[in-house]
Amino acid sequence: MPINCAPAQGESTLAKRALITGITGQDGSYLAELLLSEGYDVYGVVRRASTENYERIEHLRGQITLLQADLLDQSSLVQAIRESNPTELYNLAAQSFVPTSWAQPVLTAEFTAIGVTKVLEAMRAVNPEIRFYQASSSEMYGKVLEVPQSEDTPFYPRSPYGVAKVYGHYITVNYRESYNLHASSGILFNHESPRRGLEFVTRKVTDGVSRIKLGLATELRMGNLDSQRDWGFAGDYVKAMWLMLQQDTPDDYVVATGETHTVKELVQLAFDRVGLDWEKYVVIDPRFIRPAEVDLLIGQPAKANKVLGWVPETSFQTLVNMMVDADMDRLSARK
Ligand code: NDP
Ligand code: GDP
Repeated sequence: MPINCAPAQGESTLAKRALITGITGQDGSYLAELLLSEGYDVYGVVRRASTENYERIEHLRGQITLLQADLLDQSSLVQAIRESNPTELYNLAAQSFVPTSWAQPVLTAEFTAIGVTKVLEAMRAVNPEIRFYQASSSEMYGKVLEVPQSEDTPFYPRSPYGVAKVYGHYITVNYRESYNLHASSGILFNHESPRRGLEFVTRKVTDGVSRIKLGLATELRMGNLDSQRDWGFAGDYVKAMWLMLQQDTPDDYVVATGETHTVKELVQLAFDRVGLDWEKYVVIDPRFIRPAEVDLLIGQPAKANKVLGWVPETSFQTLVNMMVDADMDRLSARK
């Protein structure tokens, strides 16, 4: 069904309810916006913290219901699912930053791998009819065995994060096959936005460039400029998640642009946007070089194009400009 399409005559108009784990994250905030615009009652799982970190969903606070739970606490998940009684459950929560997965490998495995089983088990206990989405990752391809990467490309993860995501992917496939669940796994390639965490390379660059332009910093310390990623816009990618759960049959889909760019190209474009020469400011710092690298990612989204009717709508240049402009606005307002 196309995005923003009203139900056809005779089609059910019963209220749809969605529960999102990871609603405070980048994707959670865009997905919540999309689902609200599609008429859903939206519930989100949040963790208790000593200070609230609801910045990305602040603008939605009156329209969504937040429930406290944690991926590691099975009974809290059961309770959140009971309370929200969702028709769709999107499991976006994870320890999602690759370098942290070397510093905290066990925690990463518990959240990003075992956490998926806990959500699936909680869902099965409350209502196995719920449609389930698992946030899988192109990091599962790691040291790529095929170019470009499709749903049939074998995995070769290169970080504890990638390994944990492979588990999360296969447990989703296994529960679909074992228990006949409507469980789908989206193998999403890197997707970014002005709401991306500051530690990821795109946001680090757009924030850093803006700080230099505004006289708040004098250099930008970077790691490997040669690695290549297939970067898209998060706002486009959450549509693919939703479309997967609107299909009669659950399945796995690669979601990507089909284009790849180096980190150096990203840096160049971002500095160009503010009229500065990147080579005067970028310093290579070994602290940002990883123990094992994923050198090249480029996705083959033909199945998502054909079955879901999904296409990326935002070019790489537009994405970088959007992110630089947003960081310039944010930092200028603070000056
Ligand atoms: P973020 O890091 O921005 O958000 C992660 C979310 O998970 C946050 O809401 C965080 O909550 C929550 N979370 C972490 N641990 C727990 C826990 N133990 N219990 C409950 N909630 C928890 O990630 P993104 O939005 O960028 O990504 C969404 C998902 O998609 C992740 O699973 C990520 O691994 C995956 N993915 C992302 C890609 C990308 O390019 N963005 C590419 C492919 C996959 P809190 O705010 O409290 O920390
Ligand atoms: P990832 O693909 O999920 O690991 O997303 P990141 O945005 O963290 O990293 C993308 C690529 O940028 C990786 O190949 C990194 O090695 C590379 N990179 C180069 N310099 C940096 C840096 O300073 N920070 C980060 N996060 N990545 C960097």
